[in-house]
Amino acid sequence: MREKTPGAYKQQRDGQRRAYSLSSSLVETYPALDQLVLKMTFSDPLGAGSQQAHMFAAGAKAFFFIACPCSICLEGGFDLESVVAKLVAARREQGAGELTCRGWRSIARDDEHRCLTKLSYSMSLLYKADSLRPG
Ligand SMILES: [Zn+2]
Repeated sequence: MREKTPGAYKQQRDGQRRAYSLSSSLVETYPALDQLVLKMTFSDPLGAGSQQAHMFAAGAKAFFFIACPCSICLEGGFDLESVVAKLVAARREQGAGELTCRGWRSIARDDEHRCLTKLSYSMSLLYKADSLRPG
């Protein structure tokens, strides 16, 4: 049997890179937004944890798909795109929540190998001063 796993991971990485390069900048996607700070804590079902923080300035890519930190996870990751869109639409300055990775840790993609890594996130959004003026 041919080993297809490395190909699947490469395809996934290439797809994510492509999506990133195709996404537009923060200022184009959310003109009112000046800056967004995203803090994330990942916790693995096996107990391992890690933290990441990202700062998105106006010129940064408005790309809020967070890859799963688990290196053998397939089709996983966390999509914060809709979270950001909702917060910006409501002009909220803070947001927080938790997502669970729905990927698999096996190319068999059976329920025993669900990734289930958890992401707890908090965001701070800073708006341009003139976007808050009424009218
Ligand atoms: Zn995962």
